[in-house]
Parts: sequence; structure tokens; C-alpha cells
Amino acid sequence: MTIIRKVDQVYPDPVIIRQAADTIKKGGTVVFPTETVYGLGADATADSSVLNIYKAKGRPADNPLIVHFSSIDMMREYVHVSGDIEAIAGRIWPGPVTIIFQSTAKISVVARASLPTVGSRIPANPVALALIAGAGVPIAAPSANLSTRPSIVNSAEAIAELDGKVDMILDAGETFFGIESTVLKWSEKGYEILRPGAIGVEDLEPILGKIIVSEAARAASSVDKPLTPGMKYRHYSPGKTLYRIEDREAFIAYVEGKRRSDMAVICSDEVAAILGIECISVGSERNLYEVARNLFPSFRKLDASAYKNGIIHGFPESGIGLAIMNRIRKASVSLL
Ligand code: AMP
Ligand code: MG
Repeated sequence: MTIIRKVDQVYPDPVIIRQAADTIKKGGTVVFPTETVYGLGADATADSSVLNIYKAKGRPADNPLIVHFSSIDMMREYVHVSGDIEAIAGRIWPGPVTIIFQSTAKISVVARASLPTVGSRIPANPVALALIAGAGVPIAAPSANLSTRPSIVNSAEAIAELDGKVDMILDAGETFFGIESTVLKWSEKGYEILRPGAIGVEDLEPILGKIIVSEAARAASSVDKPLTPGMKYRHYSPGKTLYRIEDREAFIAYVEGKRRSDMAVICSDEVAAILGIECISVGSERNLYEVARNLFPSFRKLDASAYKNGIIHGFPESGIGLAIMNRIRKASVSLL
């Protein structure tokens, strides 16, 4: 049975947090909000607990999980935090940045998918921080969707998808960004983006120096050599086929000329105004944060609609737009 508890995202009730933290300590699974998307968490130090996450999601065992800490002191106990990050930790955390570090033996090999490294972050969400601190152990948590499905950005979707599959769901409404964290790896050449996310390259470079963004990270080309195990897999996808035409003008021409009536149109408010037809809106393209927040819900709306398939256009690849385009490319098939 799944216990579902409403909780305020800014001032969480300590009694509910205690119950959730005890569930984690006992080896159970808890769905909780972060500032990016909902996470499906368990004790990152215990193999048997972490296995429950893979089971609930149907996630392939070779795709490692991000491990969440409540403070830099806690992170230091479990992973080998590099010296340069120590110096700037306060400028990136708590926040939507995940950095790959060498792990200690204290982090479950199941959470790491047997890698020597672990993706580590401190989430900027009072519920998440209180839960981790209360449990007293780091919490391994991938996005709280079933494997291959779009990430979950509000608790109504979490309950619809995971009731009966996890021990507890913290029902806290909508998450702030609605798109996952930026995953980075350090090498001799500097930092490299493994997965674009809620914080843009432009915002990280003043802190981390020049960041390498490969074609694979943009998901612009098919991936022969995945930078991260997660890249191998179909991801973030609606159940129905989603097509894309990245160029806005070509998209408008296609929808006006060739679109069949059973194809849903997912687009910005500006494009909807030009087309003058009913669309699944992702908000104004002048606010890419709004588009990011509406993106996964738009995929779910497509699935819930009577349409047979859908089509979406591209967005500028700056700031959070790099993550938006990465998710769109992974979820869709190019039509032109
Ligand atoms: P998710 O938890 O579903 O948001 O996905 C986490 C992402 O981080 C996936 O793309 C993983 O492959 C990646 N990741 C987690 N840990 C590592 C690691 N140790 N090395 C490389 N990539 C990682
Ligand atoms: Mg995921």
C-alpha cells in the first residue's frame, strides 16, 4: 500500500517528514519533490533498498542513479569531492547541478550501476533537504516516472503513475523547474555536459570555466558512444509517436499544409496565434522557463488526448533551451 501525504513545499510538516524519513531508513521508497522534477528515492547506502527503485520504475540496471545529499559535509562523507568543487560548492548547491565524483564503498554499487563514480547533488527544495537530513543517509533518486516515460513534475501525475508501486508519496504540488538537473563530469580538459538541464551552460561557466558541450549532449546526432549510460535509452517519451520539425517556419508551413487532422500540435502561444488552431500549449516562447515547465505535461496531454500522434517545433538552444531541445530530440522523431 502507498501512503500519500499532502505536504507544504516551503514549510513541510516535521511529523510527515519524520514518517517519510523512517520509511527510507527501513529500506522503503518515497516519492518526493525536488526543485527539478519529482524523485523516487531510497537509502543510497543499501543495495536492497536501491533495488526497490529499479523495480518500481522498470529501469535498466546499468543506468546509474543520482545520489542526493543534504549538505556538503554529508557529501564529503560518501564521495571524493574534488578540491576545485569544494571551493565553489556554495555557489552551485543547493541547486539543480549534478557532478560525477569518485565514490567511496559506502554508496551502494546498485545505485552506481557498478561504476566507480556517482552522480551527486544537493537539491534546492526544503522537503527534499529535510527528508535527506531526517533519514541521515544520502538518498538515491532517479526521476519518479516509469522508465521511458516523461518525467513527473507535479504530485497528481506522481500519484496517477506510482500509487501502489512505492511505499510513500509526498503530495506537494508542482516542482519549480519541471526539467531535470544539469549533469557534469570533470576531466583534464575541464567540465563536460553529460546531460543538459535546468541550469544553463552560460550560468555555470562564470563559476566552472569553459564547459564542453558535445553533439551527443545536445542529442543532435544519434549516439554511438554514450557519454553517460542514460543516453543509450529511449527517454522522456510520450506513449504516442511525437514528430518534430525544429525550424519554426518549416513547422508552421507543414502544419498549415500537410498535417492530418489526427495529429496533435504542441507549440508555443506565439506559434498557436499564427496557426489559429487548437494546440497543446507549452506557454510563451519568450519565457523558456515556462516552456521547460510545460514540456513534460504537454507529452502527457498528448497521450491523454484523442489524437493519434503529435508534432512539436524547436526552441532556441540557449540557457535552459539546451535542455528543452535535448528532451524534445530524445522524445521525438525528426520529420524533415
Ligand atoms: P535520472 O535519474 O533519470 O534523472 O537520470 C540520471 C542521469 O545521470 C542519467 O543520464 C545517468 O546515466 C546519469 N548518471 C548518474 N550517475 C552517473 C555516473 N556515475 N556516471 C555517469 N552518468 C551518471
Ligand atoms: Mg529520468
